[in-house]
Amino acid sequence: MGKLLRCITSDGCVSAMAIDATDIASRAEEIHDTSAVVTAALGRLLAAASMIGAGLKGKNDTVTMRIAGDGPIGHLVAVSDAEGNVRGYAGNTVVELPPNAQGKLDVGAAVGKGTIAVSKDLGLKEPYSGVVPLASGEIAEDVTSYFAFSEQIPTVCALGVLVNPDLSVNRAGGYLIQLLPTADDGIIEKIEQGLHNIPSVTQMMAGGSSLFQMLKTALPAFELEELAEQTVEYRCNCSEEKSKSILKSLPPDDLQQIYEGQETAEVVCHFCGAVYRFDQNSLDD
Ligand code: ZN
Repeated sequence: MGKLLRCITSDGCVSAMAIDATDIASRAEEIHDTSAVVTAALGRLLAAASMIGAGLKGKNDTVTMRIAGDGPIGHLVAVSDAEGNVRGYAGNTVVELPPNAQGKLDVGAAVGKGTIAVSKDLGLKEPYSGVVPLASGEIAEDVTSYFAFSEQIPTVCALGVLVNPDLSVNRAGGYLIQLLPTADDGIIEKIEQGLHNIPSVTQMMAGGSSLFQMLKTALPAFELEELAEQTVEYRCNCSEEKSKSILKSLPPDDLQQIYEGQETAEVVCHFCGAVYRFDQNSLDD
């Protein structure tokens, strides 16, 4: 199980969330059999989506994040429910690139240039959506850029995924710090000053920092109050019923073509790899 902590500064000006997404990124790696750099990219996006999802108000609200880049990964998708349970996938699951100048997995090069789109389904007629250009393809900076330009919310986002040599996930996590409408301009400076030279997310996790300590490290000039801690997990919501209705919604000609020369049609879930098989007669009921 992953763990997510939500805090607020005692002056009421800043919301801060942190996540241990190690189990979530591990599950994604198992399902999709991703290479290291794709595990890092998808794990970062899943961690971000979980935190943004956990900040949604309505219990049936969802958020979908889609990164479309011209790098070898192609695209990345992550969806979270309002409790921070997430699922996702990558366009190309196996990408091999040399490490970047810092010796790290080169997520920026694997993603490339493109856009980040965030769509929040808040139960209204239309989802609330915004699209902005990618800042670096490193995901955290792209999330910050999305909030700055699309929602006008000053945001600090840090995300990290450490992959073992055997491709399993060592650690994954992150934090999301956002100014609340009550904050004045001086607060931004106070936050930025605190962020100089702080260790990376995975360094803090490896050093045994709790999620609360991680947020304390990122916000040294503030008193923090814990609002809630919750468990979060990789969770898909696909079902036989939904898969059947997808098939049934296809135009009859397309359906005929699918069944040409075979007795069963398969619907494969992008998010979890589940395979649902239907023979043509079963679609009639
Ligand atoms: Zn599924």
